[in-house]
Amino acid sequence: MSFDFDSLIRAVADFPKPGVTFRDVTPLLADAGGFARCIDAMAEPWQGSEVQAVCGIESRGFIFGAALAQKLHAGFVPLRKPGKLPPPLVEVDYALEYGTDRLQARSDALRPGERTLIVDDVLATGGTLAAARELVEKLGANLVGASVLIELDALGGRERWGADVRLHSLLHY
Ligand code: IMP
Repeated sequence: MSFDFDSLIRAVADFPKPGVTFRDVTPLLADAGGFARCIDAMAEPWQGSEVQAVCGIESRGFIFGAALAQKLHAGFVPLRKPGKLPPPLVEVDYALEYGTDRLQARSDALRPGERTLIVDDVLATGGTLAAARELVEKLGANLVGASVLIELDALGGRERWGADVRLHSLLHY
């Protein structure tokens, strides 16, 4: 029987602003069995893909990404918000609903052609994942795919990602 992950994801109405339903993953993280099963289930589709590096997006992507890296016997690379990593850096700017944001990585964080998986907690409009992809490509790695715990289907992130590189989501809302 499949595990009931849904009961460990809290839906919070009108957060961080009116009309938005925020999916809070912290109850899942706090549940020893649930978190372990979640990492098993997120890793399963990538077994045999020879992933060498997992890139986690700040900040919840670090939690899932680091655990997945261990499971897949890969290294972990943080993709960070500005001002956190010392130079030399490679960076990508991306648009938010209001304004812009930036993701950065150490300029030698990935080896040329290194088989790389991007990990985040939630895929919404897809802007964050698209920026992470651009950054991984700038670093010269070989992008194997992306893995998220939750995909918010109505927001079109999957269309934005495209069909050319594999994208796996464990849960859909
Ligand atoms: P996107 O760029 O619109 O796809 O938004 C994805 C980013 O926003 C991810 O890094 C998520 O951590 C965060 N995010 C968006 N919606 C939620 C949510 O409902 N719960 C937790 N994080 C969210």
